Amino acid sequence: MTIAPMTIRKGFIDTIGHTPLIRLARASDATGCEILGKAEFLNPGGSVKDRAALAIIEDAVAAGRLKPGGTIVEGTAGNTGIGLALVGNALGYRTVIVMPETQSQEKKDFLRLIGADLRLVPAVPYKNPGNYVRASERLAAELAETSDKGAIWANQFDNVANREGHRRTTGVEIWEQTGGRIDAFTCAAGTGGTIAGVAMALKERNPKVRVLLADPMGSAFYNHYTKGELVAEGTSITEGIGNSRITANLAGAPIDGALQVTDEEALPVVFDLVEHEGLVLGGSSGINVAGAIQLARELGPGHTIVTILADGGARYQSKLFNPDFLRSKQLPVPHWMA
Ligand code: PMP
Repeated sequence: MTIAPMTIRKGFIDTIGHTPLIRLARASDATGCEILGKAEFLNPGGSVKDRAALAIIEDAVAAGRLKPGGTIVEGTAGNTGIGLALVGNALGYRTVIVMPETQSQEKKDFLRLIGADLRLVPAVPYKNPGNYVRASERLAAELAETSDKGAIWANQFDNVANREGHRRTTGVEIWEQTGGRIDAFTCAAGTGGTIAGVAMALKERNPKVRVLLADPMGSAFYNHYTKGELVAEGTSITEGIGNSRITANLAGAPIDGALQVTDEEALPVVFDLVEHEGLVLGGSSGINVAGAIQLARELGPGHTIVTILADGGARYQSKLFNPDFLRSKQLPVPHWMA
């Protein structure tokens, strides 16, 4: 085994990004393609959202909107909240996190343990004013008025500092790690920051790289990108991905199309990665890798396809890795837990 030269990282912030690109052996061997996963679960806060959190905070500081000791408010499925709270701790900002109560207990517990001020709200659609994103916007406006050090709304969905962060880091890293030998990129979208930023970075370097959005059931992106209709059907237990609207991060992004991936297709991929490759990932990574496998079958052998391993499975032990929960949803159970 060879070990890359190690340098000293200057703290939490300096440890975000530069994640490994991992060859997924079973998916590659089954399709004759090279299917590579960008190991975002190895970020110090445990997910791809550390990058967006840092990019949003740096942008707000540079613009003079976020002042020393100020407060960052955000509505999040959890991972962005974790990223913002940890970057906030490292740089001296408070965080207030508004989250739908349906998200995993592990993410709620973790947010509390790292000191975020967590506010849970009912899971209602964006058009309802009680929606977590809209509630966070109101709370940020209130706190901006009342707290002496000021407050900002991170606004990850429509703040394009999110996709710019991925364009400057994730996308460039993928290009460099593959030496430009990449035929296609696919991943799911929540805010769309990851797919949009990576798509921009890759297509600036080679416009022929294909970019496909992998969409879970219950999200409107698949129908939008394939039929021009922003409508959704079905449901998914995955968290942090899927949406019913085109965010500012997605608007105008060079995305060529979409793939639809069911939980029945994605979960066996997650379990297979645990059992045969020692990679313990969350549900969105299952959608991503299953999407890459679909795409490999469409393109045929000999192509290199990159996707995102967005977060780790430990965040979902009570759902994705809980046989009782899976059975209650008529979903597949890992055979060693059945
Ligand atoms: N996977 C997970 C686990 C996430 O938390 C998120 C962020 N909501 C995504 C994927 C989607 O990333 P993005 O917001 O950049 O589209």
